[in-house]
Amino acid sequence: MKSGLQVERTPGGAILMDGNRLRDEIVAELRATIEGAGSPPVCLATVLVGDDKPSHIYVRNKHKKATEAGMVSRGVELPASASQAEVEDVVGALAADPSVHGILCQLPLPDGLDAEVVLSLIPPEKDVDGLTERSMGRLVRGQPGHVGCTPMGAMRLLERYGIPTAGRRAVVIGRSTLVGLPMVLLLGRKGVDATVTLAHSRTSDLIEVCRDADIIVAAAGSARMVTAAHVKRGATVIDVGISRTEAGIVGDVDFDAVQAVAGAITPMPGGTGPMTIACLLENTLEAARMQGAFPA
Ligand code: NAD
Repeated sequence: MKSGLQVERTPGGAILMDGNRLRDEIVAELRATIEGAGSPPVCLATVLVGDDKPSHIYVRNKHKKATEAGMVSRGVELPASASQAEVEDVVGALAADPSVHGILCQLPLPDGLDAEVVLSLIPPEKDVDGLTERSMGRLVRGQPGHVGCTPMGAMRLLERYGIPTAGRRAVVIGRSTLVGLPMVLLLGRKGVDATVTLAHSRTSDLIEVCRDADIIVAAAGSARMVTAAHVKRGATVIDVGISRTEAGIVGDVDFDAVQAVAGAITPMPGGTGPMTIACLLENTLEAARMQGAFPA
């Protein structure tokens, strides 16, 4: 655990892995780094198509935090009626613009638009979301490149709170290219060295698989599916899921029950969500470095 870290605990005694606090620290460090270099412009551009409410909130927060980090942010919004060619033109223009260092195309795109084709227009050095084929290929092959912000944010929380990973058993629930798959790769890669199991909707013995784990990352999008019965005493539980229910937004983890047995746990909200933004901004500064627009 990093020195000087104030640790808050849940009523059951688990370490609360506070994503808001760590995000604020990262934003402050980025700002200091950018100001220390004489404030050269570091620019994040977002592309938002349609009127999906959560997407608008996410993009607004990304711009707000980019500004706090001392970055320039540019937002392009298109109506839900935009054609595939219009979206491709916007992304293509940002890809060609040397004053733009990072491009984030907010997903999902409205029905009828092909996100794969749009993402393929983002060059790897500007792919601050780490979602394109080329960025994912680099991650698999262990080459330098941008890594997806949500799985990277979960890794930062493990590092910050000193959770041991080497030789430990980890279970990732969910196998999407956005979260689950890159999470498995990050936990298993050299230097992190966890023994990782990938669980998904066809896993028949999820409770047994999870009870064996020292670290559980839940990224299924299934409200409160991880109960105290899934968790070995002292295990670390990271909640990525976001479900909109009548009771409001809830995660994949039944927090109240699980915090009583876990050794460390993320809150929801306030855990992995803010860390996704922090890692997006870290990737944007790194993108500017890769493009020679910021000192190495
Ligand atoms: P997805 O729907 O693409 O993938 C979900 C995966 O979970 C699938 O592989 C499926 O097999 C698995 N799954 C679903 N129900 C399951 C069950 N009951 N048991 C075991 N496995 C199950 O979703 P995604 O894009 O990976 O996102 C996952 C969740 O994370 C969503 O709730 C999403 O909103 C959330 N999310 C949060 C952040 C953040 O910043 N915290 C970022 C991205 C996504």
